Amino acid sequence: MAIADSIVVLTGAGISAESGIATFRGPGGLWEGHRVEDVCTPEALARDPLLVHRFYDARRAALAGVEPNAAHRALARLDAEWPGELLIVTQNVDDLHERAGARRLLHMHGELLSALCASCGARRAWRDDLPPGTACVDCGAPALRPDIVFFGEMPYDMDRIDAALARADIFVSIGTSGAVYPAAGFVQTARWHGAQTLEINLEPSGGSHLFDESRMGAAGKLVPAWVDDMLASISP
Ligand code: NAD
Ligand code: ZN
Repeated sequence: MAIADSIVVLTGAGISAESGIATFRGPGGLWEGHRVEDVCTPEALARDPLLVHRFYDARRAALAGVEPNAAHRALARLDAEWPGELLIVTQNVDDLHERAGARRLLHMHGELLSALCASCGARRAWRDDLPPGTACVDCGAPALRPDIVFFGEMPYDMDRIDAALARADIFVSIGTSGAVYPAAGFVQTARWHGAQTLEINLEPSGGSHLFDESRMGAAGKLVPAWVDDMLASISP
């Protein structure tokens, strides 16, 4: 058996597209009919908290009507069976990776099923609607907001992600436009540390030229094929 490589997988909205969750930069650069600047910035939250909270309430409620697809399930199988290091870093705020069974998973841009206290910083699992002014369970301040990392805010777990990228032998980016930093720079970091890099996307992304290899097509087809190859490479 070959020595099992260390793998970092980055996923974006494209991996959830076949489950029926709209991507970010669909037609016209809108997300479910909203301009990104109107629902994804601290300024938008301060200006119109009701609009922003309702937007994420609708996204949270919509989770009940979607299921993980073959790409989420394949990554969960890789997670269960890969004997080496593995970290799945998702930019997605849906819960489809964990519902498929992935465990070695980080949500760098937050989660719909979590509430963040703007006063004390506590994060709590949250399934219901979250009206502005909801009291924090931990400190009592009426300051709970969607636990979503807005533009201009620091993504979660960057230390752990950077450490994993530095050790990675293989870096795979799936269904992301490569337009949102710092995630868009992970491929360069991984390469700089010597990783082989692969992009799986429906069409070439802005950063395609940064990868050693690009495979173009639907994640639901290409990710299971890649996972099969990876697991076959370590079978005795
Ligand atoms: P993006 O919308 O900017 O890009 C999506 C990419 O996926 C595109 O390059 C597109 O070509 C590709 N794609 C579409 N369908 C695909 C398929 N079936 N198979 C493979 N690739 C496919 O998304 P992003 O790069 O993740 O950046 C968007 C930001 O928006 C993220 O930070 C995320 O937090 C947020 N967001 C999350 C969700 C979610 O949680 N599901 C949905 C929309 C936006
Ligand atoms: Zn609090």
